Amino acid sequence: MAAVEAEKVVAELRERCATPASLLRDVAAAMAGEMGAGLEKEGGSRVKMLLSYVDKLPSGREEGLFYGLDLGGTNFRVLKVHLGGSKKHVVNSESREVSIPPHLMSGTSSELFGFIAGELGKFVAEEEGTDMPNGKKKELGFTFSFPVRQRSVASGTLVKWTKAFSIDDAVGEDVVAELQTAMVKQGLDMHVAALINDAVGTLAGARYYDEDVVAGVIFGTGTNAAYVEKANAIPKWEGELPNSGDMVINMEWGNFYSSHLPVTEYDEALDKESLNPGEQIYEKLTSGMYLGEIVRRVLLKLSLQSGIFGSIDNSKLKTRFHLRFKADPKISVNVANRTPHISAMHHDETPDLKIVAEKLHQILEITHTSLEIRKMVVEICDIVARRAARLAAAGVAGILMKLGRNGGINNQRSVIAIDGGLFEHYTKFRECLESTLGELLGEEASKSVAVKHANDGSGIGAALIAASQSR
Ligand code: ADP
Ligand code: MG
Repeated sequence: MAAVEAEKVVAELRERCATPASLLRDVAAAMAGEMGAGLEKEGGSRVKMLLSYVDKLPSGREEGLFYGLDLGGTNFRVLKVHLGGSKKHVVNSESREVSIPPHLMSGTSSELFGFIAGELGKFVAEEEGTDMPNGKKKELGFTFSFPVRQRSVASGTLVKWTKAFSIDDAVGEDVVAELQTAMVKQGLDMHVAALINDAVGTLAGARYYDEDVVAGVIFGTGTNAAYVEKANAIPKWEGELPNSGDMVINMEWGNFYSSHLPVTEYDEALDKESLNPGEQIYEKLTSGMYLGEIVRRVLLKLSLQSGIFGSIDNSKLKTRFHLRFKADPKISVNVANRTPHISAMHHDETPDLKIVAEKLHQILEITHTSLEIRKMVVEICDIVARRAARLAAAGVAGILMKLGRNGGINNQRSVIAIDGGLFEHYTKFRECLESTLGELLGEEASKSVAVKHANDGSGIGAALIAASQSR
């Protein structure tokens, strides 16, 4: 009985999460369409297509010492790079990662920026011989991965928070001014030369080494993409056109929505209880902050409807992983984030699925599971992760479509640089994304498209853009 009921829940999930190629092509076309609408006029699409004011990407010839600051969704990093010009490229780089104390994610703006400036100050102070030649100021690129409406390459106001952040008094404020104020309080003499996000940084970091990189994409805590657009293909742009004729567009594609998206009851409930209901629907289907939470919801339904886990205490299964630390700031992000657990279960290759058994026990207090049940749990992880990866591939295909690079014409090489913890560490997600992109493009076009893991682009990219701006 229990097994039949359980199979019903899984079968329904399988069906609702199905992403046949025809559906993905519709999603890709919708993405390309929204991109056009967002470029047409301000507010033309849920996909905001924000101007980054980055009109020249690093060439590889930059020289000197530059700093970067990377505020993502989970960690934050400070780094320093020494660029040696076209022959030597990155001569040396050092970085440090700091996890963001959860209470700062919903506190005040000055607390958050005070913390960031403090950590940056410590990093700079510990470095030897960092005095700049002839009293020049230290140049810093700031990667801030939340939607920002920019007014120049080094200023911009926060549109809204996403992921787990919610600091009301920062919305509408210039984040560079906030950072600069906090740095002054710390006695840090640095100049913020560029404000970008992780997608733009990934694009810049990869372009530094390879001219054919056309887009930077993130699948980490959240998701976003940036690409190079012809300036004259941006009707909403009112300013003077840049010399380069190009403009990097920060898509903010996490907010993409299309009726073709396979949204289930679990996704709807997750959205409703999130910090940003109705927003970031594509992000909630495809990124690390949410995949574990979706699986958790399916397992709870499975338990309640079929009793397949036996007479267990469902309280652990009922605990929202991530979305509640606004209410309870004491829950730490690292403990609460379950997508790495999903990944571990999904990749379990032991014959009796020992890792699945361990995870179920440790995290959810579900004991004595049969092999059949463990297999079912793996399938649930597979369904949720596969849907995410296939939708992710459709998004990438949408960008290529918009650029007219999905048909393999002229064999023009196009490289998509991808970064983020989900893409980097969740092997099955990454493999599925890559194979699905091949499936969508077809054999001929696939030959001229490459997906590349751009390790650490978001941090170094900011420093590189600071460098290319400062000359
Ligand atoms: P951010 O998006 O905060 O800049 P990252 O790009 O490092 O950070 O991504 C971190 C996210 O990646 C985590 O929140 C988690 O969702 C996901 N992640 C990290 N490691 C794994 C893993 N082993 N398996 C699956 N997801 C992972
Ligand atoms: Mg990041």
